[in-house]
Formats: sequence, structure tokens, C-alpha cells
Amino acid sequence: PYDVLVVGGGPAGASAAIYAARKGIRTGLVAERFGGQVLDTMSIENLISVPHTEGPKLAADLERHVTEYDVEMVRSQAAAGLSAGDDGLTTVDLANGASLSGKTVILATGARWRTMGVPGEEDYRNKGVTFCPHCDGPLFKGKRIAVIGGGNSGVEAAIDLAGIVGHVTLIEFMDDMRADAVLQRKLRSLPNVEVRLGTKTTEVIGDGGKVTGLAIEPRDGGEGEQLDLEGVFVQIGLLPNTEWLGDALELSERGEIVIDGVGRTSLPGVFAAGDCTVEPYKQIVTALGAGSTASLSAFDHLIRTSAP
Ligand code: FAD
Repeated sequence: PYDVLVVGGGPAGASAAIYAARKGIRTGLVAERFGGQVLDTMSIENLISVPHTEGPKLAADLERHVTEYDVEMVRSQAAAGLSAGDDGLTTVDLANGASLSGKTVILATGARWRTMGVPGEEDYRNKGVTFCPHCDGPLFKGKRIAVIGGGNSGVEAAIDLAGIVGHVTLIEFMDDMRADAVLQRKLRSLPNVEVRLGTKTTEVIGDGGKVTGLAIEPRDGGEGEQLDLEGVFVQIGLLPNTEWLGDALELSERGEIVIDGVGRTSLPGVFAAGDCTVEPYKQIVTALGAGSTASLSAFDHLIRTSAP
């Protein structure tokens, strides 16, 4: 068995693996797609100490850093199940039928943004369609944008962006917003925000290179219209990649892995970090930090439980 088995190869998993390997203990890392969400990102400007990088470059840098250490990499394999044995080992079953086990396991399987599923959305991803206000807000300084979704994340994004961009249209499919009342009040008080309720988005429109508009229509039928704008922030949910865990450990009602302040899950010997957890601020820097925290907690667990 591995001393530390990391599941996931995004920033959190990479950081966890490096911290473990630097302790000189047997470390494995299994990942479906090394790099994770970073691979889908273009410009990154908030990884502190690296003023500017691009997703594929950062993913390659993460991989190079991990492979400088003695980390056994199991690439392009998905974990499909997790179980705790009586022997203190945790087993991770892979979709290909194989299984790996660890004295400790660190879960870092990340998350994926829920998409609208309308024409143009994929074509203009990173060309005006974005999912991360903290990441991409400054790219739309002074411009017109739409935020899709009236839950807490959509309304928080709209408030945040209203301070940077020229104009925000918030679009909510239902007849009212689900966001907390205090957020809705704040949103309604802003002069450069318009809220459209009961409205569905039907298409992201562009000129071939970038977004130029958004086609919307009333949910109950009626005349559609086109909004002229440069950016679309989709905020209709971030889905943690935790379905494969079933009820092996405690998940929040959103399916996020419940952890304490040092990355411990409800299962002894199993730790978690990054976007797959209840951590509310999902960023590269926070994932890197959480990966190191989970790894140091795993090491602490090992020195307390393993025979010398
Ligand atoms: P992820 O990056 O999601 O990595 C998860 C890893 O787990 C992947 O290797 C995946 O293949 C693997 N995995 C998943 N399921 C399984 C399984 N069952 N078995 C095995 N492996 C599995 N953040 C910033 O700080 N700045 C930015 O500019 C920025 N821009 C972004 C732009 C976009 C388009 C997106 C989508 C995100 C952006 N983010 C940005 C957010 C940032 O990418 C994430 O917060 C960060 O990548 C989370 O790291 P993670 O390691 O927790 O998860």
C-alpha cells in the first residue's frame, strides 16, 4: 500500500503529492486528467507571485514539479469507489477494475461548472463566456456583461462585477431569486444592474472570435430579444466530482466532502482538499494551500498510527 494515495491531479492533488513525497514516504497519485480545471483556463493572474500564466502552462509546471519527486503516477484512470478496511487501509477501486490502497488517502477530485447547454456557450468559452468572477472580472472592466443565475453565487458575482464592469444584467430562469435577501437588497440598490426574472437564455452570440450578445426570451413564451454585451458569467452551480464516493463518507447536501480545518474527512485516515470539499472559496491558491494542509494532516495521522 501507499503511505499516501492522492486521488486527483489538479492544484490540490499536486500540492498534496509534493508535500507527502518530501517526507520520504511512499506516495501515489491517480488522476483522470492531470492538471484538472487549470487545463481549461486561459489567462491566470491571481496565482500570487506569478503575475501572469496560462492554464496549459501552469498544468505543465504542476506536473513537472510533481515528477521532480518520487511520486508514482497512475494517469488517465478514474476512481470509482472507496472503502475502509479493518486493517486500517483505505482502498480506492478504479473504473478499469484495478484497485489501489493507502494507509492514508487524500481526495482532491475537484469540481465542474454546470453549463447552460445553449448554442454558442462552448464555442465562446474563455472568449467571453466564463465561470469565475474572481478570475475573470477584471478582463471586463467597463464592459457590459450578463450573469446567469440568481442563487447566492450569481447574485454575489453580480454585486462583485458591478464594481468593475460598466453594466450587469442578471438573468434568472425562475420568477424570483433564491439568493439571501440581504444580497438581493444589495443587488437592487446598485445603479448599473438590471435584473430579468422568468427569463431563459437561448443562445450565446458572437462574431466568431468573441462574444457580442446574448439571446434571451421570457420563460413562458413571448417575444425573444438580444442583449448586446461582451461577457457572460455562468453561475448556475459548481458540481463536486464526488458521485463516485457514494455514502463512504460524509458529504454536504451539495455533495461536497465535509472536512475540518485541517482537511480531515469523517473517515479516519482519509483527507480531502480543494474544490471537491466544502471550502467556500474555490481558487487555485486556496486549492494549493488546502492540498498541503491535507497532506501534512495525513503525515501526522501516519506518525500516530503506523508501526515504526
Ligand atoms: P481540479 O482542478 O478540478 O482537479 C481535479 C482533479 O481530479 C483532476 O485531475 C481530475 O481529472 C481528477 N478527478 C476528478 N474525478 C476523478 C476521479 N473519479 N478519479 C480520478 N481523478 C479524478 N482559479 C484561480 O485561482 N484563478 C483563475 O484564473 C481561475 N480560472 C478558472 C477558469 C476556468 C475556466 C475554470 C473552470 C476554473 C478556474 N479557476 C481559477 C478555478 C480553479 O481552476 C480551481 O479552483 C482549481 O483548479 C481547483 O483545484 P482542485 O485540485 O481542487 O480541482
